[in-house]
Amino acid sequence: MAIAIAIASGKGGTGKTTIAANLAVAMAKFGKKVAVLDADIAMANLELIMGLEGKPITLNDVLAGKAHIKDAIYEGPEGVLVIPAGISLEKFRRANPEKLEEVLKTIHDLVDILIIDCPAGIGKETLIAISSADGLIVVVNPEISSISDALKIIAITRRLGTDIIGAIVNRVSNESTELSVKAIETILEVPVIGVVPEDPHVRKAAAFGTPLVILYPDSPAAQAIMEIAAKLIGVK
Ligand code: ADP
Ligand code: MG
Repeated sequence: MAIAIAIASGKGGTGKTTIAANLAVAMAKFGKKVAVLDADIAMANLELIMGLEGKPITLNDVLAGKAHIKDAIYEGPEGVLVIPAGISLEKFRRANPEKLEEVLKTIHDLVDILIIDCPAGIGKETLIAISSADGLIVVVNPEISSISDALKIIAITRRLGTDIIGAIVNRVSNESTELSVKAIETILEVPVIGVVPEDPHVRKAAAFGTPLVILYPDSPAAQAIMEIAAKLIGVK
């Protein structure tokens, strides 16, 4: 059965797009048919990380009623289907987020796993993504402001009736000022399903427009993401 997972965080810059893109590629490496959709329609950057920037037809064209979703799906690394939002401000202005729900349903039917990269905050796109998804993964950094924003996302997800898969703690460098995994689990009251270290390879891979798990598969962050992907799809 197909499953849709929303990746959200409340706070910006926690690593949602990095995790969404690389989890998608990692799951594809394990043999799953995966799609990843950029629901951050105002600040789209999934396409940059997946090396698919500048595509002529994007999600924003579809949400504006100017194109069919089938024409906004591109094959990316490891055969992952990527639905970029496009970086054109003009197209974003015309996009109607209300159409997102229908788009998500259409893609859901094409794959085993659909990963939805949410924007920061609790705007319309995030709410539609979370309510359409089967499960939420919340990406946090080990600091109190990030955890406090994640609490809001978790509360909203509970209200919407979507399952909470757990939290991924990203950019961990084991400094004494960081919140521990245990403390994060206690505050959020959800399980931490993975810990991704602070790793300079993440930025390097983004600069090359190639997903980390492909360009630097042995890097600490790539290994952590592969492990999370394996756990999520039940690979032993
Ligand atoms: P979001 O989608 O939540 O806004 P991004 O995935 O775009 O976050 O990441 C924000 C910035 O943090 C990017 O420059 C990215 O390269 C960097 N980053 C994310 N995760 C890590 C990590 N584990 N180690 C180092 N840099 C990271
Ligand atoms: Mg992002």
